[in-house]
Formats: sequence, structure tokens, C-alpha cells
Amino acid sequence: MKIRLAFSGYYWMLGILLTGFCVISGCNNGKGKKTEETKRVKLVSGVSAQLARHRAHVISQLSYTVDYDIAADPAKAIQAHSSMHFNFQDSLARPLQIDFKQTGVASVKKMVINGTQVVPNYQKEHIIVDASQLQKGPNQIDFEFQPGEDALNRTADYMYTLFVPDRARTALPCFDQPDLKAIFKLTLHIDTSWQAIANGALLDSTVDGSRKTLHFAPSDSLSTYLFAFVAGRFKVATGRIAGHEAKLLYRENDPAKIKASLQQIFALSDKAVRFYEKWTGIAYPFHNMGMAAIPNFQFGGMEHPGNILYQSSTLFLDPVATASQLNNRSNLLAHELAHMWFGDLVTMCWFNDVWMKEVFANFMADKCMRPAGSDASFNHKFLIDHYPQAYDEDRTAGATPIRGELDNLQNAGLLYGNIIYHKAPIMMRQLEQVAGAAAFQRGVKNYLKDFQFGNAGWPQLIELIDRETPEDLLKWNKVWVKRAGRPEFDYHLETKNGSISKLLISQHPEVVPGKRPAVATGTEDQEDTATDNQKADTSAVWPQVFDITLFYPNAIKVIGVKNGSASMEVKAAEGQRAPLFILFNSNGMGYGRFPASGIMATHLNLIGTPLPRASAYINLYEQMLAGKKSARGLTPQRLLKAFMEATKTEKDELNTKLLLNYIKTIYWDFLPAGTRDSLAPVLETVLWSAMTGSRTANIKKLYFEGFSDIFLSKEALARLQSIWQLKKAPTGISLYEEDYTQLAVQLALRIQDHKANRALLDTALARITNPDKKASFKIVMQAASCDPDQRDQFFKAISDPDGRKNERAVLSGLYLLNHPLRQPESEKYIKPGLKMLEDIQATGTIFFPKGFMSALLYYYNSTSARSVLNEYLDEHAADQPKLTEKLLQASDLLRRSNDWVYSKQSEEN
Ligand SMILES: [Zn+2]
Repeated sequence: MKIRLAFSGYYWMLGILLTGFCVISGCNNGKGKKTEETKRVKLVSGVSAQLARHRAHVISQLSYTVDYDIAADPAKAIQAHSSMHFNFQDSLARPLQIDFKQTGVASVKKMVINGTQVVPNYQKEHIIVDASQLQKGPNQIDFEFQPGEDALNRTADYMYTLFVPDRARTALPCFDQPDLKAIFKLTLHIDTSWQAIANGALLDSTVDGSRKTLHFAPSDSLSTYLFAFVAGRFKVATGRIAGHEAKLLYRENDPAKIKASLQQIFALSDKAVRFYEKWTGIAYPFHNMGMAAIPNFQFGGMEHPGNILYQSSTLFLDPVATASQLNNRSNLLAHELAHMWFGDLVTMCWFNDVWMKEVFANFMADKCMRPAGSDASFNHKFLIDHYPQAYDEDRTAGATPIRGELDNLQNAGLLYGNIIYHKAPIMMRQLEQVAGAAAFQRGVKNYLKDFQFGNAGWPQLIELIDRETPEDLLKWNKVWVKRAGRPEFDYHLETKNGSISKLLISQHPEVVPGKRPAVATGTEDQEDTATDNQKADTSAVWPQVFDITLFYPNAIKVIGVKNGSASMEVKAAEGQRAPLFILFNSNGMGYGRFPASGIMATHLNLIGTPLPRASAYINLYEQMLAGKKSARGLTPQRLLKAFMEATKTEKDELNTKLLLNYIKTIYWDFLPAGTRDSLAPVLETVLWSAMTGSRTANIKKLYFEGFSDIFLSKEALARLQSIWQLKKAPTGISLYEEDYTQLAVQLALRIQDHKANRALLDTALARITNPDKKASFKIVMQAASCDPDQRDQFFKAISDPDGRKNERAVLSGLYLLNHPLRQPESEKYIKPGLKMLEDIQATGTIFFPKGFMSALLYYYNSTSARSVLNEYLDEHAADQPKLTEKLLQASDLLRRSNDWVYSKQSEEN
């Protein structure tokens, strides 16, 4: 069979034209340029920032021709050849480093530079080419090679590439950096039963026996991390998205799901693309549109133009999907499609700005999919989705600025975390508010237009938005984006004859013991940071707008505050009656540690709507964490009592979840074991009756999970054992296989009889029907065992990278291993666990190192655990600064809870 598409000739031509373009780059080489011209480029593994700057300076007009011959059998190696074409100009005639990380089977078999065969000079993950082998102007280097397979995700039925952030260099020799965009011309040889999509549209397909050859049109200009293709046994659906024909490859085989979903996937994509075209003023920027639904995909989705990858289970839903499943699907599609403009069309210069594309994708997806007229519920969800998690890192001694530094792409994984995913969206919403929505949109549109098919970073964007508004955004940027941490707010209230005569609000940077002065030194704008660093620490102000609400027994008064200075008088409050308490940030738009009082804690029932109530819970918790001196009498026990009381009136699902999380954390981390034992029966009763008294099944289930997490009494044990044995859930609650497995683990933590413990876990294993889940539970059950030998074996197994491949199961097990009910015995794991961190960073995926540290340390509050941690930090902080930041983030609660529980002054009740 042979298909030739009518427009193919045009795209070949476009490819040639584009290679001749010099795309405008916003990556500031201004001052850097001179120094780059005189420097020797160090040879180190990975892709260093210096190497990337050097190559961006000496290389232009880049394209790759790549040909992969892929056997369906994943045991058979892939054969490949490629050519890279580029202009080269380096007045210093320095050697040129080509990235090719040889892992596993990867190897170069033949290398030809401008027609002359050479022996590859392979050093530190690079092939070194001497400048004398290159010519000034156009060059061509050809390779015959075997690619590494780490990033090819091969199974017997299909494969897909996933190169973000720096894994293209494992699959082909290339310049693996985002600001050397290139045209990719791809050819694939695959089985005739396989389908494939790539960045470029399919030009033709030639069959030869059981094999076929596919030629794809040259891609549009792309960064290496976006070069991608998918091939395998897939079904193909076609539809139209904003006037373009689009393919969807999928493997789902449930006819009901397919029928319920296919049309929706195209319709939602169409809606998103049309929205972005209108908002940005730029038509869908790429010539090809396509997507693939991948089973068990590592991420939710990945934004490769022409072959966007999606988690299959998020796209294909049952006819009776829940609201949250539908919501997740439309958000995922809208997120990945927003990347076509934000990230793909205009790409960050370097991965220190990776947060920009992620925050924009979420921000635009929210705009595109948010239902009309629901501001309060949107803001409520936003508060709960982002604030607690942003604060979890931003209040710590390891807090980092949104925009940080990145010395080498191989460390890009350590940039990902709550600051990027949760603080950045908060910052962006503030920015839109400060600049004004219209000015913000004009700035963003200019940015996309000026840098399309090129690269630009945050400094270019903020400058373009700044031009559109009288506000001083550059000053704003210095504190919100370049500075770590958050402000701490305070207030001073004067009253006269029962009325407010003066209300002062002040803010200053939160003081965190052990915190280093942290101002980012970006890669492009280093000149202004040295001075910032010196003066920034005590005088910084986070300009922002938020509401405060004055609460009275039968009334409220909402006052808007625009706070841009260290101290300000709230004129609108003057003359108002003196309130019972003041709720700060009652609309959830502000950011920082806000004052919260014991009086508010005991009058939470006066706060009548869910959004301000959530804000009150968050303010109270953050105030308690501030420690004895600052907590205004909000001790952990008082707060726990207030939150337990709040469960009696709280009816909102999101708020219930938030409350229960706080209750569990205070209960396990902030109480001495003895206090916990005596409090347990009370808390059990509160949660069980909140469960039976709740109207909705979802809230009932939240309380049931909370109860199963905290219970300690014999009565509760008997009650839950019976539920587990009979598989009979309490009235109004549906428990599924996974819920029963979770329950078994909680029971195992409390059953100390070896035989009974073993029998319980074995039965739980036998009850699991899905083979993947069974394999995971085999790992977890060792950690849940009451037999110390079993737990030692678990720890020994995960000390080896091979034993850590199932990262999810390892983390679940590690939490159990260090659970308070296993302390103090389990403290022996902390030291060797910390020693594994460097290895874990080298071998795990991007989210694993932080997850591992959190699982290891989360439940400790003892002085001895704190000493082990401090010893490790003293020894290693200097040589592993990025890892140390993560460790300081992960150990924040340990330090705070240890202060509360074990410091000298005993806590009053
Ligand atoms: Zn994304």
C-alpha cells in the first residue's frame, strides 16, 4: 500500500525554507556573548549550561535526518542512522561536543564528518569533534548507530519516545538543549501490523513483505525534547480539530468506553484549540495534529506536536464517569494543547524556566475549561489545590525561588516540586491581577508573536507585560519570582468606644531559622542579583491584593486591601465596630503567613461560606507551625480540638479533606505518644459520628479513611477487623478492592501477634486480582509486617537500585516502615536512608528523590532523629546544595514538631 498526501511537496519545501531562517531568539547572549567567545568549554558529563551557551553561539541552521529500523520484538536491538546538518562558526576553533549518552546497548558504529570517515572520540557522554574536522559554514555529520533504549519505552506491542528533559541524547547523537531548535526528518521501518505517528505528517508508506517504511514530513522547528514518535499495534480514529484532520492512536478495548469517549476527545480538543487561537491571536502553529493514548503512561500527558501523548485511562471513561473524572479529562487535554503555544511554539531558553510552560499550560487550561459564573467555587478549589502544598515548601529552610539556577541538564529533575507546580500558579494569578487582565493578555500575545518558533525566557515575558501597565512589574518580579520564601503578615488594632480607630497591616519576609539568603541568579540576567542579595533580606515586600473580613456574632464586613508596602493603614476599617476576630485573606487571593487567633479557632462556625473557612483552616495551621513564640497560644492540642469541633459543622467536601489532613498531621507528628493514646478514643468517636452524620457518600468515605488512619483503641480495632473480614462496608459507603488493601495495611500496623499479622497480610495479597497490583503489594507487605526481620529485608532490598524500580510501592512501604507505631525501633533506618540519596537522585525519576526523603522523615519528631538529620546535613550540605534544599524541605515538619513536643517549656493545655 502506498499513500501519498497531496500537501507533501509543500512541506518538504517548507522544511528547506525554515532551515534557512534565522529565528529570533530572546535568550540573552548580550553580555554572555563576549565571555563565551573567549572561554574554554569544560568537558563534563551531561549538558552543562556553559556547553549549551557555547553551542548556541557557534551553531545555527540545524536539522537532523533520522532513520530507525525497529523490530517488533523488544529483545532485538534497533538499528539507526542519522545525519546532522548545521552551520558552524567559532573564531576560537574550539572542539565541538555532540551529545550521545551511551547506556545499555547504545553505540556508534560509523561516523563520517563532511564525507570523511573518522573514529568517534567518545568522552564523558559526548562525541568530541575537533574544529579542524569542521568547516566554517555548512557541515554534515553522518552516524550509523544503535540507540540506547531507556527513553524508547518498548513493549511487545508498541513503543513511544519520551525525551524530556535531556534524554534525546540517549536515542541519537544531537545537541540536546532547548534553544537549538531543529527540523527533524524521520523515517521508520516497522511491522506492517503497526501504526505510527510523529511530529511531521505521514508522507508515504511502502510495504515490503511483513515490513513497511514510513516517511514523515519534516517537522516544524522543534527543541530536541519535543522530537518524538509513537509506533505499535494501535487502533486509529480520525476526527477534526479546529479545521485540521487529526489522528488518535489508542489501545482501549472496552466498547462502552470507546463509544462514550472518542467523540468527546475530539470535541474537547477542538474547543481548546479554538479558544487558544482566539486568545493568542495565533492559529494552531504546527502543520500536523495527532495524539496517542498510552496505557500506564508515566505522566498525565506530554506535549509533542503531532503526537501528544496522553494517559489512556484519563481519556477513555465509562459512560457513567464522575464529575471529577470528566474534569480531569478536559483539563488534561486543555493543558497539553495549551503547550502548543506555551512551550512548543515559544520555548524556554534553558530548563531553569521549565516552570513557565507548566504554569502557563495550567493557567490557560483553567481559562479555557472553567464554567461560566463560578468564581467563588473556582477560587475555593484553587486555594485548596495550591496553597497548602506551596506553603509546605516555601516556609522551609530549603525554599527556592520560582526561577532558580540550573548548572547542568542532568540535574533538571531537582527543579520539579511544589514551588513550580503550586507557588508559580499563585504568582501568575497575582500577576494578572496586578497588571490587569487586558494588559496581561497583550503582553503575552506580543511575547508569542515576537519569539514564535524561537526561544525566550521569563525576563522577556515580564518586560513585555511591564510595557503594557503603569505598575512596576520588574520590582514585583524581584520578590515574587526571584526570591524564595513568603511574607509574614501582622496587624495592630486600636479601638475607641467599641469602634475601630486604627487598623495597621504590616508585612516582612518570614524569618526561618537556618535559612540561607536566597535570591536567584538566573542564567541570563546575572548582573542585578549581587546587590539584590545583600539588601533583600529584611526589607522585601510582596505587593498583593486580598480581602480581610471582620467577624461579629451575627454579621460580617468584607474589606479589600491593596498592600504594597511594609506597613499600611486600612482606612476602610476605621469607624467599624470592633470585631470578634479578623480573618485575613478571606478571598484566598493573598499569599503568606497570615495572623490567626485562638478566638477564630473557637468560632469557626461563624464563617458561613466554604472559601473563607478554608482560608481560616490554612491560616490557623500555618500559625501553629510558626512555633511557640509566634503561635499566639495556638498550641497543636488546641488546634486539634478546634479542628475536631469543626468537623461537626463542615459540610463541604474539599474542606473536609483539608481538615482531615491537618488533623492527621497534628495527631501523628505534633503530639507526644502518651497524649496521642489518651486522645485516640475521643478522636475516634468524633470521626465515626461525623461519618454517620454526613449526607454524601464521598464525605462519609473521607471520614472512614480518617478513622482507619488514626484509630488506636481495641474497640476500633475490632470494628475495622470485622469490616475487613466480612468485606462489609459501613452503611452508605462503597469500598473497593484497593480500599480493603489499604485497610489491611492499617490493621497490620496494629496487630502485633506475628501469626495473626502474617495471616492478615497473606489474605490481603490473595484477595488482589490485578497482577500489577499484586506485585506492588508484595513489596509493601514486607514493610507493613510486625516482624522486624521482614522490615529489615524490605530496607535491604530498596538499598539497591533494582529494588527501587517500582517507585510507588517503595514509597508506600517506606512510610509504613517509619510509621509512629514502629518508632523508636525504626530510627535505625534514617542514617542509611539518607546515605542513599545521591544514588537515588542518579537512578530514580524526577519526583522520586523528594518523595523518598519525605517518606523517610515525615513521621519523626524525636530529638535523636533530628540529630541524625543534622549530622548528615553538616557533612553533605556543601557538596550537594540542590539535594540539601530538597532535604531541608522534606524535614521541615520534623524540626517544627520536635520544637513543639520536646523543647523545654512544656505545652499548656
Ligand atoms: Zn505540562
